[in-house]
Formats: sequence, structure tokens, C-alpha cells
Amino acid sequence: MSKNIAIDGPAGAGKSTIAKQIAKRLNYIYVDTGAMYRAMALYLMRQEVNPADVEQIGRVCQNASISIAYENGEQVVYLNGENVNAYLRTEEVGNMASATSVVPKLREKLVSLQKELAAQKDCVMDGRDIGTCVLPKADVKIYLTASSLVRARRRMEELLAKGQSADLETIKADIEERDYRDMHRETSPLCQAKDAVLVDNSDMTLEQGVERILEVCKEKGLLS
Ligand code: C5P
Repeated sequence: MSKNIAIDGPAGAGKSTIAKQIAKRLNYIYVDTGAMYRAMALYLMRQEVNPADVEQIGRVCQNASISIAYENGEQVVYLNGENVNAYLRTEEVGNMASATSVVPKLREKLVSLQKELAAQKDCVMDGRDIGTCVLPKADVKIYLTASSLVRARRRMEELLAKGQSADLETIKADIEERDYRDMHRETSPLCQAKDAVLVDNSDMTLEQGVERILEVCKEKGLLS
């Protein structure tokens, strides 16, 4: 049976960076479920769907075929056969993903794809509902978080490094709004699974965060 590590937590907690490193150390694949919600959001934007129209989203999302592949060790998301990785990481797509991921029919479609992947391969999967809904029997569950101020500072540094302008207060407000939406939606809200280990990395370096999670993997026998 495949081994599965579930990492959940709010936006900007460092899930993908840390999850990628854990996957590398264990020789598992890394599955970024946020990228699947983003690809679906991109499709809905291209179809000019109203982000508040639940019925329309539930219907239109059935026409999007999403799959993932690995090229040079990186996850590539295909939307109806097109590699859409280059379009997924914008604030606009992130906000659309946060708004449209509340729709149960859209979630059903992506969750079944995620379950299939995890059943076939040893993986580290990150998202919002992995430990609570997608992989309730995961071998290791981590709830990774950091304060909204720390997350906003990290995001600001990323934007500045790319030469984009950034305002800390605006980014922090955006992060808090997204947290609220992810934590209060009716279907699969973001929350810590009862059996998940809480890792708050506000005062940790990236390496310390990785080491802390690897310790948990060792305790669960996934690493000697
Ligand atoms: O993690 P990322 O910021 O890429 O996710 C984009 C959005 O997709 C999140 O704000 C969240 O609303 C949604 N999402 C989700 N369930 C997941 C992963 C992401 O609802 N498992």
C-alpha cells in the first residue's frame, strides 16, 4: 500500500516549499492540490463564469479535465491537455480559486482525482482538507501554520524579489480574508485534523520546519 503524508494549513504557511523538500528526502512524489484548484479557477475565468454563481460553477467545471504529470521532478498541471503552470501563481487566480473552491461539485471532482493519485503512489500532498477529507487515513498528518504577519512578510519579500511593488498591510488583509473564507466555508473548511501534529513555523527557518516534520515521519516509521 502506498504511504501518504498530508500537510494542511493556511495560505503562505510554507506548505509547498516544505512539502517539496520532505518529498525529496523520502523519495515520494509531491502533490500540490492548490494548483489543481487554481487550474480549475483559471478555466472558470476563461469561461467568464461568475465566481458567486454556485450552480453555474458546478455545471461548467464538469467540462474541465485536470491531470498532473511530473517533468524534471516538477509537478505540471494540464487543463484540457494544456500545460497551465505559467498561469497559476497570480493573485487573481488565487482569489478566484479561493472563491470557487467552496462549490461542492467542483471539490468532489478534484478530491476524487487526489484520492486516486495517493492510492497509486507514495506522496506528500498539501492543501486545506487533505488530513480531514481527502486522506483521512494518511500515515502522517501535519497542520502547518504561521502568524498572518509572518506570512504577509514572506509574501512581500517574494513580490519584491520579483521586482513587483507590495504593501504589507494590503497583503496581510488579503491573507486574513482568504483564511476566513477557507476556514468558514460549508464544505471541507480548513481546520486541524484531530490526529494532525501542529507545526507553527512563525519563528522557524525553512530548514527547522523541514526537520520538525521529518522527526514526525521518523516517529511514524516512514524514515529510519
Ligand atoms: O494553496 P493555494 O493558495 O495554491 O490554494 C488556492 C486556493 O485553493 C486556496 O485559497 C483554497 O481556497 C483552495 N484549496 C482548497 N483545498 C485544497 C487546496 C486549495 O480549497 N486542498
